[in-house]
Amino acid sequence: MKPIVALVGRPNVGKSTLFNRLTRTRDALVSDTPGVTRDRIYGACDYGQRDFILVDTGGLESDVEGGLELLAVEQTRQAIQDAELVVFLVDGRLGLHPEDAGIAEELRRMQVPVLLVVNKSEDLDPGVVGADFYALGFGTPLTISAAANQGMGRMVDLVEERLPPADEEAEALPGIRVAVVGRPNVGKSTLVNALLGEPRMIVYDRPGTTRDAIHTVLERDGQTYTLIDTAGVRRRSRIKETLEKFSTLKAIQAMEAADVVFLLVDAHEGVTDQDARLARLVRDAGRGVVLAVNKWDHLDDQQRHRLRRTLDIKLVPLLYYAPLRYISARYGTGVGHLFEAAETIYTSYTRELSTAELNRVLHEATEAHPPPVRGGFRPKLRYAHQGAKRPPTVVIHGSRPNTLPDNYLRYLERTFQKAFELEGVPLRLQFRKQE
Ligand code: GDP
Ligand code: GDP
Repeated sequence: MKPIVALVGRPNVGKSTLFNRLTRTRDALVSDTPGVTRDRIYGACDYGQRDFILVDTGGLESDVEGGLELLAVEQTRQAIQDAELVVFLVDGRLGLHPEDAGIAEELRRMQVPVLLVVNKSEDLDPGVVGADFYALGFGTPLTISAAANQGMGRMVDLVEERLPPADEEAEALPGIRVAVVGRPNVGKSTLVNALLGEPRMIVYDRPGTTRDAIHTVLERDGQTYTLIDTAGVRRRSRIKETLEKFSTLKAIQAMEAADVVFLLVDAHEGVTDQDARLARLVRDAGRGVVLAVNKWDHLDDQQRHRLRRTLDIKLVPLLYYAPLRYISARYGTGVGHLFEAAETIYTSYTRELSTAELNRVLHEATEAHPPPVRGGFRPKLRYAHQGAKRPPTVVIHGSRPNTLPDNYLRYLERTFQKAFELEGVPLRLQFRKQE
């Protein structure tokens, strides 16, 4: 799995600027799936030799506005603990700030590896800046300028140097990679055990790249699957550490490594905010997904009806493309069908979209509903082709795509989704400006 690097620092030091720079969310692309880039707090960084997951923690202080909307405040600490490395960002223009010292203290207490980086150093003497921040106790800091794009390569080199070595062998996980994700007690380990208990052959358990990740490879109906981080899930339940904090980052890491996510919710508990947060993360990760409603046993008709309605309101709008499955991991009901769903979804996930077909759909869509006029101009969407796969991404060339309103983007997204019958997989839109 990709290692996690957490970005920590007080507000305004340039964390989001650096984050955007490293995850390149401001590429030539003017827009992504609505709502996706705006509230992302983590991104894959493939800047250097090695991919890693960069997380903007929003800092350790109790600033709730920052990047913390998705990652609950109390989870920041957990996120730092889960990270392989912390990039501690400070502001070279302002100089050493008392709050920096507080954060340094906290990081030292948590005993995580730290790379101290001084941002906004474009016009500053590295020697002087270095001497100022040396007092934080993390050695001579690296000076960069996120805004002026200076020192990025050097920084990524240093990050990679400090990450634990990659396990080459574990990188290639065979078959369809499945992650079982959900908040504590939804029944993840019960489900994993049920999945493994189905007629199957466990090929092997092998250690992953990160500290406690173990993936299980199994075969079913001639199809190979890798269950991501099942050991972590199993171990947790064995120890029965009910107090263990739930780690959003572990879930993100598992999702990033997966093709298909089984997102579990608990039918007995109903849908919580944490479920919605996870649903948003799965959507943002762009992975295939089955919405699996677990503990669908011991419920009367009225309870089932009520739950279906809550799902419709709270989760289906976030993951409208996800098939819903009602299961009972404890009694094994519906569990086998999850494999079939995963196989179907995987086909959609890796689908090649024909250019001719894409253009036909685009033209029909814009003819049925032309893009709305904005500022006296009507955007023209000229042609489309497939960008990335996993998930399928449609690149549309046209004029003024950045004036397309969100609801129009959603309309296009759903039209393509339907035309290509993508099951359990989001469809991504990207635009290239062409006047
Ligand atoms: P965050 O609160 O830590 O996420 O900080 P932001 O990324 O929002 O940046 C805060 C301010 O600092 C913004 O006005 C940025 O444009 C500015 N900024 C970020 N990086 C640099 C830099 O390298 N040099 C200068 N001069 N300003 C920067
Ligand atoms: P995890 O924390 O997500 O791994 O959840 P566990 O697998 O440890 O399950 C939490 C609790 O829910 C345990 O007491 C399980 O026995 C129970 N549980 C799991 N699946 C089901 C189910 O399908 N029906 C019922 N009634 N209970 C379940």
